[in-house]
Amino acid sequence: MLEIKVKTASRVEARNITNDVARALKNEEGALVYLFTPHTTCGLLINEDADPAVMSDIMDALNRLVPRNHTYKHAEGNADAHIKSSLTGHSLLVPFSGGRLALGTWQGIFLMEFDGPRERKVQVAVLR
Ligand code: ZN
Repeated sequence: MLEIKVKTASRVEARNITNDVARALKNEEGALVYLFTPHTTCGLLINEDADPAVMSDIMDALNRLVPRNHTYKHAEGNADAHIKSSLTGHSLLVPFSGGRLALGTWQGIFLMEFDGPRERKVQVAVLR
């Protein structure tokens, strides 16, 4: 299992990790790439990486759906981050062809930080 480390810089951040994933996959062969992040307050998403306003809008929408300042039972103060993490999910499957991620033209892979800044891990496995 390959691993990528991502140091996020703020509490909430959509970090484009497409190039980090591609670099980790250098010399790998297979048909599918499985990505998994072993954390409870971040997530993984695929969406547009051409216009940064798209990820900004997605983050805004998540903040409207799950506001930070709400009365939650979880007393650690980061209940919103756990919920947003559950909404985005912790894993992705991406087609892999000819040694390259077979993403769509406008797609990128994002680590969604909801309770940073922290150092996050993303495990990467190539399935044959
Ligand atoms: Zn917590």
